[in-house]
Amino acid sequence: MDCTNLIAIDTHTHAEISCWNPFDNYGEEYDRAADKYFRSSRRPTIQESIDYYRERKIGFVMFGVDAESQLGRRRIPNEEIAEAAQKNSDIMIAFASIDPHKGKMGAREARRLVEEHGVKGFKFHPTVQGFHPYDKMAWPIYEVIAEHKLPAIFHTGHSGIGSGMRCGGGLRLEYSNPMHLDDVAIDFPDMQIVMAHPSFPWQDEALSVATHKPNVWIDLSGWSPKYFPKQLIQYANTLLKDRVLFASDWPLISPERWLKDSEEAGFKPEVMPGILKGNAMRLLGLAA
Ligand SMILES: [Zn+2]
Repeated sequence: MDCTNLIAIDTHTHAEISCWNPFDNYGEEYDRAADKYFRSSRRPTIQESIDYYRERKIGFVMFGVDAESQLGRRRIPNEEIAEAAQKNSDIMIAFASIDPHKGKMGAREARRLVEEHGVKGFKFHPTVQGFHPYDKMAWPIYEVIAEHKLPAIFHTGHSGIGSGMRCGGGLRLEYSNPMHLDDVAIDFPDMQIVMAHPSFPWQDEALSVATHKPNVWIDLSGWSPKYFPKQLIQYANTLLKDRVLFASDWPLISPERWLKDSEEAGFKPEVMPGILKGNAMRLLGLAA
């Protein structure tokens, strides 16, 4: 990634549709409920996202969410995202997502994706994948990530997926309590852990864990900065200024809206270069 020409690096964007696989309509009710909750049904292709980001000179990290075990839905191939990132390496970095229920087979896949497809990190979603982050089931995958000293993003806090569905679609919010990552951070000191989103209703837990464990970071995706809890802004301005990351959750929130709304959110001007770009460069091991 050619960082000098970029105004920012967005560390959290989603691949929502595959151009390799036919659409899997199994479990489509989760999509319809999410459309309603997020008041948007926009699902750009990977190429459309690349064009959007390149035009705005914003680098980005992209991933899917593999929840095949709990949802029974085919995932977007990690290789499809990785190939797009390799062809567009000026602007794009691929993370992979592997359902932790895949255990050692998942760990083999993780290794192959890192060593042969240039994947630079991993995304987990405890609520949608249906696992406790400290469950030993996930360790074989964490071990591969730690061995390569790569970052792992974990969804934290409330989940829009399942919101408003009967029984919340059977998805457990509690798995996404950021306090669970405290244990993971102790056992995997070489894995950089990114807590995604303001972790409502556990914002203070997230700030506490990130302040205590230097391998824990916070990404600011999924919400307009207008609605960030004030303690999150306060920590981003002070104790955690080197480990807080600009991130949108594209296509749910556009980076343009995020950047515009951040002007009114109370960030100190001097912390913004780090939040927008410098911290992500360190996390991702990108040269200046
Ligand atoms: Zn997300």
